[in-house]
Amino acid sequence: VAPQSFVYNISPSRVVFGSGKLRALPGEMARRELRSPLILTTPGQIHQGEIVKVTLGAGHMFTEATMHTPTSVTERALAYAKSVLADSIVSIGGGSTIGLGKAISIRTGLPHICIPTTYSGSEMTPILGESADGIKKTRSDPKILPGTVIYDVDLTMTLPVGLSATSGMNAIAHAAEALYAHDSNPIISLLAVEGIKSLAESLPAIMDSPTDLNARSTAQYGAWLCGLCLGSVGMALHHKLCHVLGGSFNLPHAETHAVVLPHSLAYNAPNIPEVMKKLADVLPGSNGDAVQGLNLLLKRLKLQRGLQDFGFKDEDIDKAAGIAVSNPYSNPRSIERPLIRELIRRAYAGEDAR
Ligand code: NAD
Repeated sequence: VAPQSFVYNISPSRVVFGSGKLRALPGEMARRELRSPLILTTPGQIHQGEIVKVTLGAGHMFTEATMHTPTSVTERALAYAKSVLADSIVSIGGGSTIGLGKAISIRTGLPHICIPTTYSGSEMTPILGESADGIKKTRSDPKILPGTVIYDVDLTMTLPVGLSATSGMNAIAHAAEALYAHDSNPIISLLAVEGIKSLAESLPAIMDSPTDLNARSTAQYGAWLCGLCLGSVGMALHHKLCHVLGGSFNLPHAETHAVVLPHSLAYNAPNIPEVMKKLADVLPGSNGDAVQGLNLLLKRLKLQRGLQDFGFKDEDIDKAAGIAVSNPYSNPRSIERPLIRELIRRAYAGEDAR
């Protein structure tokens, strides 16, 4: 098919990829003339933060990064950054830690170097979600995009298999929606297909052998590509549903993406036959049916399939449907409340998508 008209922006971030690349960090700091970083982690990844500090022979650590980037935590981190005269931020962790790095960077202008250890893709986006008083607000600004990203596969070896699977499905969701984004373009579609293929192949291998270097590298490569998709084009129904379920019902981020994705794709399928074919081509065992391929992948990854497994209740279905249809994101199929309600009901009950 000849390319139609499109707009394509190249992501301006610098990416250093490969096993052992954490050792490139001092050089990356030096080329930007940075000397005194604030190193960010979660309480569970203090050890990895300490490795960063030893690698640099410099820096101060703030280890309270939390899911949904609460502004109260950001305020404490900002005060600490000021007190230690930090000239930069190094975040090592998943989307939560990177989110804190973005929140500090956009408020202070400090350069932000990311060392991602999950497959969330946040490091590739100019998007920041922050929570205050129980409400999560998301904004986008080119200045939020981290300037340098070091992908060192060695640091992902400790990511538990369950989290690897849900985080990988979160990444696949970014790329799947990029394929039918209202502002999609041929380059991003190439990255999306390659990203999904890489993750669909590597995630099952990681389940069997969590420290398989090849599988881990392929997954991280796929996550990078999927993150680029998320950062480059607009997301649709699937991300809207997950934002509603996470933001208003406090459901866990990556797990919710994994449950909802086959249902969102099944909803959109009648309007995106070519995208469904591209997806089916890279989902093993799909037999030409992408939804079937995703159902199979989720089974293979032994993931929980029902929103009810995460505390979502029967009586929440109508409420969630109401929020999801108000202010919808651009989507290839029109948003109809009864059908969206049924989609959420199926996801709640853990039924196979169809
Ligand atoms: P996370 O960052 O919350 O990490 C989950 C847990 O896994 C944490 O306890 C973390 O310390 C631990 N962990 C991470 N890597 C590990 C490793 N290699 N070994 C051992 N433990 C490890 O989870 P996430 O799914 O990466 O991020 C979710 C958050 O990111 C959500 O708040 C979501 O909204 C946000 N997010 C933002 C964007 C964006 O573009 N702004 C994109 C995706 C996700």
